[in-house]
Amino acid sequence: MLVTSLAERSGGDRDPTAPAPVPGDAGAVLLWAEIAELEDRSRFDDDDMEPRAERALAAAREVGLPELERRARLVQADLVRRRGNVAEAGRLAEEIHRWAADNSSRYLLARSHFVLTAVFQELGDLSLALEHAVRAVELLDDDVRAEMRIDHHARLADCLGLNGDLAARDRYDHVLQLAEEVGDVDRQLLVLNNRAYSETLSGRFDEALVWSTELQALAARHGVPLRVGRLDTVGRALMELGRLEDAEAVMLPGLHPEVLDASLDGDAGADFLLTLAEIHRRRGHLEQAQESLHESVRRCERYGLTSIRVRARREQAELHAAAGRFRAAYGEHKLYCDELMELQSAERDARARALQAMYETTEARQQSRRYRELSLRDALTGLYNRRYVDEELPRLLAAHPGNVTVALLDLDHFKRINDTCSHEAGDRVLVAVAELLQQCGGAGRAKGWFVARLGGEEFLLVLTDSDPGTATAHLEDVRRTIAAHPWAELTGGLPVTVSIGAAGTEDAPDPAPADLLGRADARLYAAKRQGRDRVVIGG
Ligand code: GH3
Ligand code: MG
Ligand code: MG
Repeated sequence: MLVTSLAERSGGDRDPTAPAPVPGDAGAVLLWAEIAELEDRSRFDDDDMEPRAERALAAAREVGLPELERRARLVQADLVRRRGNVAEAGRLAEEIHRWAADNSSRYLLARSHFVLTAVFQELGDLSLALEHAVRAVELLDDDVRAEMRIDHHARLADCLGLNGDLAARDRYDHVLQLAEEVGDVDRQLLVLNNRAYSETLSGRFDEALVWSTELQALAARHGVPLRVGRLDTVGRALMELGRLEDAEAVMLPGLHPEVLDASLDGDAGADFLLTLAEIHRRRGHLEQAQESLHESVRRCERYGLTSIRVRARREQAELHAAAGRFRAAYGEHKLYCDELMELQSAERDARARALQAMYETTEARQQSRRYRELSLRDALTGLYNRRYVDEELPRLLAAHPGNVTVALLDLDHFKRINDTCSHEAGDRVLVAVAELLQQCGGAGRAKGWFVARLGGEEFLLVLTDSDPGTATAHLEDVRRTIAAHPWAELTGGLPVTVSIGAAGTEDAPDPAPADLLGRADARLYAAKRQGRDRVVIGG
C-alpha cells in the first residue's frame, strides 16, 4: 500500500460535536490545543477531521490569530491531498509556506515543508520531496511535541526509502525508538508499515518480511486489527518470497466487509484486492483470483482509480494466460500497454500542471515584489526614496514610541560642484555620499536605522532605539566622515560637507511624521545659517 496515502482510522476520543473555542485567552488556548491535535492526527483517518479543521479555521479567523488560522488551513490542505487533489493541496501549502517565510514563523515553515514533502512524493518528484523533508526536520525546535518529531523524521525516512537509500534504515530505527518511548502504538504501526513497504519497493523482500512480522506482532499485542493497506504490505512481502500459502492466509481477514470498507480512501481496498488476486493466481486458485480481480476493478471504476485499473489489466492478462486463454491474454495485454502509456502521459500532464500552478504563483509574487521594491528605491543612489519614507516612518513611529530620531542632511554649496565640475561629477558625489551614509548606518550605536534620498542633494537618516546623546554622537560621526572623505579626485579640490538638522520623539512621543520632519527642517535651516558643516539637534 502506498506510503503517503496510508488509510488509517483510529477512534478519536474527542466529541466531534463540541463547539469551537470561544474568543478570549482561554478560547485561544483551547483553539491552540485543538489545532495541535488536528496536526497530530492528520496522518490518520479520523473521519471527523474535515469538520474539525473547518471549525478551527473559522474560530482562528474570528479571534484574529493569523498563525493558528494558517495552521488549520494547512491541516485542510493535507486532507485535500489525501482526497486526491494534489495540485490544490500543493497550491495551498505553497501559499502558507510563503506567509510563514514573510512572517518568520519557523513552526509553520516546518509544517508546510512537511505537507509539501507528501505533495511532491505524490507528484513523483522525489528529489524535491526529499529537500522538503530535510527542511521539515531541520526546522523543528528542540521542544517540539513528540508526535510532530516522529512524523517529520518518519516522512524523511519514507523519502529516503522511496529513493532506495539505505540511510532510511537508521532513520526508521530512530523514529521507532521515539514512538516506543512515548508509547505511541498508532505511530509505531504506521512506521513499521512504511518501513516494510519501502523495503518491498526496493526489492529487499527478506527485510520487508522482518518489518511486516514486527507489524503483525505489535498489532496482535495491542489487539489492533490490521487494516487492508497493512495486510497488503505483509501479503506482498510474503508473496514476493514465494510463501504463497502464508500470504493468502494473512490476506483473508481483509475480505471481511467491515475491514475491506473501513478505510476512507477508496484505493486501499482496490489495491488489496489486486494483490490478493495475484496471490490466488500464483497458487493456482484461478476462480478466486478472477473474483478478487473483478471486485478490484469494480472499485476502480466506482472511485475512478485509474492507475490501479491499469495494473488490474496486467493481472487480467496474466490470469487469462494461466487459464490457457492466450488470445484473450494477448488482447488484454495490449490494452494494458495502451492504457499504461495514456496513464503515464496523463500523470506527466497532471504533474506539470500542478508544478506550473505552484510556480506561477511564486513567480508572479516574486515579480510584484521586485516591482514594489524598485518603486521604493531612488534610481541614482539605490537608497530608499520619499515614497518609502512616507510608508515606513509612520510605522516606525508607532513601533518605537518616544524612541525615534529623524535627521535631514543637505549637502553644502552643492550647486558649486555642479557648476564648477559638471552635473555628472555632482551625480558621482551624490552616489558617494549615499554609500558613506549606508556605511555609517547605525555605526553600531543605533539598533535600528535606515537612510533615504528625499530628492536633490537632501537625505534623511532615521534612527530608532538610540537615546538623544547617542543620536547626536552618531550624527557627528556622519558629518565628520563625509567631510574627511578624500573628495579631491571627484571635485577637483572643492570640499564636500553636510549640514544636519535633527529632531527626536523623546519630548513628544507621538508626533505626526510631518511635525517631526518640520522640526528637523527648521534645524537644518539653522545649521546652514550658523555656517554649514554642522549638526543642530536641539533648541
Ligand atoms: P546650500 O548649502 O544652501 O544647500 O547650497 P546648495 O548649493 O547645496 O543649495 P541649492 O538648493 O541652491 O542647490 C542644490 C543644487 O543641487 C541645485 C541642483 O541643480 C542640484 N541638484 C539637484 N538634484 C541633483 C542631481 O540629481 N544631480 C546633480 N548633479 N545635481 C542635482
Ligand atoms: Mg544644499
Ligand atoms: Mg537643498
